[in-house]
Amino acid sequence: METKSEALFERAQKVIPGGVNSPVRAFRSVGRHPLFIERAEGQYIYDADGNRYTDYVGSWGPMILGHKAPVVQEAVLKALEGGLSFGAPTEREVLIAELITQHVPGVEMIRMVNSGTEAVMSAVRAARGFTGRSKIIKFEGCYHGHSDGMLVKAGSGVMTAGIPDSLGVPGGCAADTLTAVYNDLDSVEQLFQQHRGDVAAVILEPVAANMGVVLPKEGFLQKLRNMCDTNGALLIFDEVITGFRLAFGGAQEYFGVQADLVTYGKIIGGGMPVGAYGGRREIMETVAPLGGVYQAGTLSGNPVAMAAGLAQLRFLLDNPQVYGQIEQSCAYLVEGLQKAAAEAEVPLTVHQIGSLACLFFTGSPVDDYGSAKSSDTKRFARYFNAMLTRGHYFAPSQFEAIFLGYAHTKEDLDRTIQDARGVMKTI
Ligand code: PMP
Repeated sequence: METKSEALFERAQKVIPGGVNSPVRAFRSVGRHPLFIERAEGQYIYDADGNRYTDYVGSWGPMILGHKAPVVQEAVLKALEGGLSFGAPTEREVLIAELITQHVPGVEMIRMVNSGTEAVMSAVRAARGFTGRSKIIKFEGCYHGHSDGMLVKAGSGVMTAGIPDSLGVPGGCAADTLTAVYNDLDSVEQLFQQHRGDVAAVILEPVAANMGVVLPKEGFLQKLRNMCDTNGALLIFDEVITGFRLAFGGAQEYFGVQADLVTYGKIIGGGMPVGAYGGRREIMETVAPLGGVYQAGTLSGNPVAMAAGLAQLRFLLDNPQVYGQIEQSCAYLVEGLQKAAAEAEVPLTVHQIGSLACLFFTGSPVDDYGSAKSSDTKRFARYFNAMLTRGHYFAPSQFEAIFLGYAHTKEDLDRTIQDARGVMKTI
């Protein structure tokens, strides 16, 4: 019999491209229909057919405290009573900006936007406006949202779909994006040499979490910092995933390397559509109305979204034990999964940092886009499907992260590991 999810997906495909409002949700690379989700609570999500799953996606990152965290829920309900949108400044915007600038290294000013895409697009514009230069160096397999210039050799859904560069991006836009190889400083140095005096910024995910999870090699981030300084370019950390997740101060705090500009999304909005970019005061002062870099938003700083973000960030600040716990949970989970794979003689390369992890279905080391792509995506799909039918909801692509949250319990993780022991033997 057809499930409700299948029926909804059939209807959706007639009126929404691919039936989804963001490509990876379509589950194409794992060869099945997506689940339509009805509700979520803590570490669990429930589909339209009433099935419960342990959620290791967490809405792709925002739900670090789990779904419907009481502090966030209460703040949102309270904000709702005051009205949905004013298009005028509010106290919550000041509070969230103060909180972030006080606790995140190097972020002296911050501007709220509505998504990670917008945050990156705006930060890149500010970098160009500030330096008067046009070229941006990005890394193959890093995803920075879907603005034109950032869709060159991108990760995430672009990589999953096997689309190297998007249609619809004018050659002129792509020409200003230079691509380097993650973890390969020589590839960056070469671009600096070839485009001397033209590079406005180097942008990267300090932990690349959109080609699976690829870790920066020892010294990579610091050396990039130095290279940018030598060449008069800005360093932009895209912390849409890592921000407030690796530590409250994100990768900057975790690795002790400071960027000039930082972009945020996901956790900063507590599950509401929020992004932000911030950094050195003199750069942020080039943004309108102070400076000539234009950027605006009807719904930016939305009161309900700010309430959600502020509540989640305050909880994280007041409960620093969250970071230790989610890191431990994540390590425990991947250790169990790794053992399960070893018992079944399934070659696996496992990466974990903080509450982010990835199982690459390959026996070879993974430290860039090329090596990530050597993973056996068919085997991943078999693993994914078998785990899903047993109630464990992982991201439906080899090239996405596992997100652990504060709501996951040891019992949840043990159940997942136990099921993986059976599944690994069948894939
Ligand atoms: N940067 C990074 C590192 C991301 O992971 C994402 C989304 N996964 C984005 C930017 C884009 O954010 P959004 O989907 O909110 O536009």
